[in-house]
Parts: sequence; structure tokens; C-alpha cells
Amino acid sequence: MSLADAITRLDYRPRDFLPGHVWLAGAGPGDPGCLTLDVLSALTDADCVVYDALVSEAVLEIARGAELHFAGKRGGKPSTDQEDITKRLIGFAWAGKRVLRLKGGDPYMFGRGGEEALALVREGIPFRVLPGLTSALAGLAGASIPATMRGINKAVVLATGHAAGTDEDLDWAALARTGQPVVIYMGLKNLPIIAAQLAAGGLAAETPAAVIEHATTPRERVVVATLGTLAEEAARADIGAPALIVIGGIVSMRAELRR
Ligand code: SAH
Repeated sequence: MSLADAITRLDYRPRDFLPGHVWLAGAGPGDPGCLTLDVLSALTDADCVVYDALVSEAVLEIARGAELHFAGKRGGKPSTDQEDITKRLIGFAWAGKRVLRLKGGDPYMFGRGGEEALALVREGIPFRVLPGLTSALAGLAGASIPATMRGINKAVVLATGHAAGTDEDLDWAALARTGQPVVIYMGLKNLPIIAAQLAAGGLAAETPAAVIEHATTPRERVVVATLGTLAEEAARADIGAPALIVIGGIVSMRAELRR
């Protein structure tokens, strides 16, 4: 059966994308295979796509007929950027376009989707949120690391590392005391600080740990080490953004499950 036939059998009917509406969508971690049907359909209908740095070329290729607007933000720039993006979304919507706001992963997972949605609510602009596969879950699976494993963990913490070492940081020592694995977005730059704080919270230096760069894409690289050595090993391998950090016993499963 062809893919087109399969979709027909699904009896999948996309919602109408109306002019003046904004759809806030997640493109997943990069692999086009991780797109949802809703996002695929929205890409074909949108008049304009306002996309982030993490959205892959392969995904944008689908929206070739639409106006493409890059709204990338890399590493903690001031919030005026965010205001500017929001203003552009509102402007396009007022102009009667079907606006697809496309973010990497899931729009409500460390993607400032909540803030953009709030701004749309305040302007009275009709919008809808299309979930995406968040990079932590897809990235772990793609790197042969189960997010949960009986006998190893009963929870998994998804955290952001961008504020590590600042007054606004979360309590890493408290997370360490849960004994549950932590998956960290935006943490590469602060990895030495995060690792030190998790260790200070009582997490053993031998705890398995990994970084996954460009998860689910042909550029994916995985470095496996321990809590004590991960920062050094990642630097040695010259790992860069985007990368996820995962710290906890689940990482040890990769040795057996890797394909
Ligand atoms: N909304 C996104 C997260 C945005 S924050 C989501 O749900 O995935 C940006 C961070 O996401 C990056 O710094 C990185 O930690 C992570 N990330 C996103 N895509 C990634 C990928 N393909 N590989 C590794 N990390 C990724």
C-alpha cells in the first residue's frame, strides 16, 4: 500500500486553516518522519511560515509555496526579539494570512509557545496549537536510550539548563536527590555547572550520562560518558548545539539496545 493510500484509509480530515488564523506548531526534532499529519497538512496550506532555527530544511521544503520567514533566536538574546516575533505573527494574521508558526520539537516545550499563544489571546487572534514530538523523547529513543525502564526509573525529569549558575536557576541538587534521570535542553554551555551541582546533590560521579547532538538527523552524534566526565568528553568531541544532555541509569541501556 502506498503512503497516500494509507492516509486515505486513515480517513484523516485536516481542519480548515482559515485566513487570519495562526497555528502554533511543532515540527519535531528534525527527522521529517517525526512530523505529525496535522503539521504536514498545515505546511501544505499555510500562506506564511514563521520558523525557528531548529526547524530542518527538509521540513521547510514542504512549504515551498508559502512565504518563509526566519524567526530564529540563538542563545539567550534579549526578550525584544521575542516581542518582535509576536508582533510579526499578529501583523500577518491581521493581513488575513494563514500563519503557521513552526518551532522545533513541541511548541509548548521550552519553546516560548505559551508566551506567543498568550499574545494571540490578548489580541483576539484565533489560533490553534499543533503538538510536535519533543526532542528529548524522540532524541532518546533515536539514541537507543529508553526514557523509562523498569527497575531503573519511575520518572524522568525534563529540564532546561539555560539558567544554570544564575539566580533564576532550578535546584539541581533537589533533582539529584530524586534519583530519577534528568534530560536537559539548552544545557550544553552550562554542562560543567550542571554536572557539579548534580554531584553536589549526591549523584555519583559514575552515573551514566550522554549528550546527543542533532538528534534524529543525519548529523546525529552521541557521546556516552559519566556524570564526572561528560563535560570533558563532550568538549573533546567538539559537540555543539542543538544538543540534549541525559544523565541517569537509563543511559546504560544503550550499550545493549543500540542499532
Ligand atoms: N521546543 C523544543 C525545544 C526548544 S529549546 C522541543 O520540544 O524539543 C532548544 C533545545 O532543544 C536545544 O538547545 C536542544 O537542547 C534541544 N533540541 C531541539 N532539537 C534538538 C535536536 N534535534 N537534537 C538535540 N537537541 C535538540
